[in-house]
Amino acid sequence: QDKINLLKNHVNEYPDFPKTGILFRYYSTEVKCILRCNYRDLFSVFQEPEIARTLRDVLIEFAAKVTPPVECIVAVDARGFLLGPLIALELKVPFVPIRKRGKLPGKVCSVSYTLEYGEDTLEIQEGSVKKNQSVLIVDDLLATGGSLSTACKLVEKLGGKVAACLVVMELTQLKGRSQISADVVSLIQY
Ligand code: 5GP
Repeated sequence: QDKINLLKNHVNEYPDFPKTGILFRYYSTEVKCILRCNYRDLFSVFQEPEIARTLRDVLIEFAAKVTPPVECIVAVDARGFLLGPLIALELKVPFVPIRKRGKLPGKVCSVSYTLEYGEDTLEIQEGSVKKNQSVLIVDDLLATGGSLSTACKLVEKLGGKVAACLVVMELTQLKGRSQISADVVSLIQY
């Protein structure tokens, strides 16, 4: 818990981002609430090597305990890319990216999901996750759960099995974890 508090104290918060006045805002019909909350920036953790090392250690500790043992790490564009490779290198397993539409070369598999205004599409490269592989999906923050549940669908479309999802931060009021059928672990809750 000391480590988690240390990490929490080093996540910078910004009240007027991405737009002045509106704050960071979520709406989900399932949750039926609008949450105005600060933007939480994980990059600040990486400005302090000791804190970044603590974050890495905590993530690896969790990932090493997942059952069945993790055979592949999948992370979501963009801050998930800060975390996924750290874990994958330590566990000696492959790292696979999920990106927004049009960013990945070669043959891709796509899944769309609904946002507050409109739609977004995430993609994964075909063949990047193997059939029945035990996958850990990683991201920085869980809000409505749209990104993570879409990531799960992509992994499953390739035949992978989502062993768990791991996020650094979770906005619990939005109940994003209810959108996800796999186990979800968050280090810090707001
Ligand atoms: P969701 O799909 O769960 O609604 O939103 C999660 C995605 O939005 C994550 O990929 C995360 O990076 C991004 N996100 C949402 N809120 C924040 C925030 O306050 N700070 C940061 N850094 N990212 C956020």
